Amino acid sequence: MKTLTGKDLAAAIRAQTQAEAATVRQPRLAVVVATGDEASLWYVRSIAKAAAGVDIACDVVDLGPDAAPERIGETLARLSGDPNVHGVMLQTPLPAGASAQELAAAIDPRKDVDGANPLSLGRLAAGLPAFPPATAAAVMALLDHYEVDLRGRRAVVVGRSTVVGKPLAHLLLDRHATVTVCHSRTRDLASVTSSAEVLVAAAGRAGLIGAGHVAPGAVVIDVGTNPTADGGLTGDVDFDAVADVAGGLTPVPGGVGPVTTALLLRHTARAANLP
Ligand code: NAP
Repeated sequence: MKTLTGKDLAAAIRAQTQAEAATVRQPRLAVVVATGDEASLWYVRSIAKAAAGVDIACDVVDLGPDAAPERIGETLARLSGDPNVHGVMLQTPLPAGASAQELAAAIDPRKDVDGANPLSLGRLAAGLPAFPPATAAAVMALLDHYEVDLRGRRAVVVGRSTVVGKPLAHLLLDRHATVTVCHSRTRDLASVTSSAEVLVAAAGRAGLIGAGHVAPGAVVIDVGTNPTADGGLTGDVDFDAVADVAGGLTPVPGGVGPVTTALLLRHTARAANLP
């Protein structure tokens, strides 16, 4: 079994991004935050640190955990209209009563570097240019990096969220995979996932995918990031059990995560380069 780490790929994307950022006006990413959730705040700090490493400016606009939805929407619209800001991202979770999908409609699609505006998903589904959500793009980048052939292959995605599962299904379809999407109502999950030549787990359930869910030799991409009691992270895949069966498997941490952050910054550099 090959461990499909994302670290080298993320480093390569960061190096390209730094080169791209140097050729355009100072790219600037604005991250709007309205939560006290420690894991989210940690993620936002990691984006800001990674941005600094590739010479992209990153403004964290913290509205506090009690921000009214109207204020969040107005902030996203203001940043979308600011010519010095090229990428706008809305971090989740949001305060009760605020819908990420409704609010993300206020992000200009040309600045929607995490593919959150429903228009971006619609354009993606229609095969039109759009920024895909960075996580879905990271899965595709890992499959390409490890030269996984997708044409005509059976791909199964576990999870149908708007940020991961659905956009990923479109991206896999565009690459001519035969795609099945599973969710919490799927009956006999193992019988579906074990038909996959490429399996992507994005359910947010630690250890959901065991050896019995995986076909021998399958490529398994673990998107899940579930907090552990000791303050660490674990994926949706039981790594040790599946490692005995799979042909390739991404670790958590160190797989999809670093590539996601690197691609968010690449999207920002590209958005800054749009005419
Ligand atoms: P989400 O919005 O909670 O969606 C989870 C999806 O998984 C839903 O479609 C749900 O089905 C499905 N699901 C839940 N339990 C299931 C089960 N027992 N069997 C089959 N399907 C099940 O989560 P998300 O935002 O897509 O995120 C998914 C995971 O990816 C989380 O762990 C998240 O932290 C992680 N993530 C990682 C990155 C990264 O960069 N590495 C980025 C984003 C997210 P229903 O639709 O039926 O409820």
